[in-house]
Amino acid sequence: MLVFLNNSGSRKLKDCLVLIVDDQISSRLVLETLLKDIAKVVGVASGEEALAFCDQHQPDLILLDVVMPGLDGHKTAQKLLADPDKSHIPFMFVTATVTDEEQSRCWNSGCIDFVEKPVNSCTLRNRVKSHLSHKLKNDLLEKLIYLDRLTGAYNRHYLEDFLPRLVKEGDRNTTPLSLVIFDIDYFKQFNDHYGHMSGDDCLWRVSAALKKALQRPMDKLVRIGGEEFLVLLPNTELAGATEVAQRLSNTVYELNLAHDLSSFGRVTISGGVATRLPKQDVSIDAILQLADQNLYQAKSQGRNRVFSLANDA
Ligand code: GH3
Ligand code: MG
Ligand code: MG
Repeated sequence: MLVFLNNSGSRKLKDCLVLIVDDQISSRLVLETLLKDIAKVVGVASGEEALAFCDQHQPDLILLDVVMPGLDGHKTAQKLLADPDKSHIPFMFVTATVTDEEQSRCWNSGCIDFVEKPVNSCTLRNRVKSHLSHKLKNDLLEKLIYLDRLTGAYNRHYLEDFLPRLVKEGDRNTTPLSLVIFDIDYFKQFNDHYGHMSGDDCLWRVSAALKKALQRPMDKLVRIGGEEFLVLLPNTELAGATEVAQRLSNTVYELNLAHDLSSFGRVTISGGVATRLPKQDVSIDAILQLADQNLYQAKSQGRNRVFSLANDA
C-alpha cells in the first residue's frame, strides 16, 4: 500500500513534460527558454512529429502553434482528441491570429487555453504553471479513484468506466477486443502457509510482473477480485490474446516465488481468454462469462496454463 501512496504523491512540476509544437525554430526557442526552469520541455517542428512523439511519451501539456505546414494546429488537435491514448493530454494554442472567429475556432477545438504571440513571458509562465498544477492534481485524483492500492493495478471502478468505452471504440474502429481473466493458483494455501502479509506481497509482485510484461500502452491490468486480474487487450484477436496470456503466465512462473503447497513448487496463475469481435451482437458481460468459463477449464485441466476456446468452436 505504501509503495502506491508514496509514488502517487511524489510528482512535482519539474517532473512534468511540456511539448512545444511550432514550425518556426525561433518561436520554439523562445518558448523553450521561458519554460525550461519550470518543467521538462521538448520542441518539435510539426503536427506530425507531435503525434509521433505522443506515441512514445505522455506530455502533461502541449503548446500548439496554429499555422503550420502539413497538419496545422486544429488538425493536430482533432487527431489528438480522436486517439484514446492521447485524448486526455491538455493542449493550449499559442497563436498570432486572434480574430474573434479564430478565437472561437480555437476554443471549439477542445483546447484548455490560448496565448497570443508574441507571448508575454510572465503570463505564459504563470499559465503553464497553473495548467500543470491542475494536471498533477487530476492525475492524483484519477490514481486514487482508479488504482487498486495494494497492487497498483487498475480497479473495478476503472473497469466500469472504461470497458464500455473500449467496446464502443472496437465497434467504431472495427477491431476485436480481447479479455483475459487470471487467477492465482492455490492462493488460499499460500495465505494459510505463509501468512496474509506474504500473501499481499505475492499479489503485489505478481501484479508488477504482469504490468511490466504488457507491451502496448493500451493494454491494461485490472484487479477484479482478491487474487483475480483482468487483462484488457484492445485491437487484439483471440490468437494474439492467447499468445499474450501464455507469455504472462510464463512470466509469473519465471518469477519463481516459492509455494511449498503447490504441485509446481512456486506461485503460478491460470488464465481464461475470450474475444469480442467488432459489432458482434454479444454483450461484453457474455464475453467476460466466456473468459471465466475458460479460466475454469484451465483450472480443471491442472492449473498453470491458459485456455481460450471461442464461443462458436
Ligand atoms: P485455485 O487454485 O482454484 O484458484 O484456488 P485458490 O486457493 O487460489 O482460490 P480460492 O478462491 O479458494 O482462494 C482465494 C484466496 O485468496 C482466499 C484468500 O485467502 C486470498 N485473498 C483474497 N484477497 C486477498 C488479499 O487481498 N490479500 C491476501 N493476502 N489474500 C487474499
Ligand atoms: Mg479466485
Ligand atoms: Mg485462486
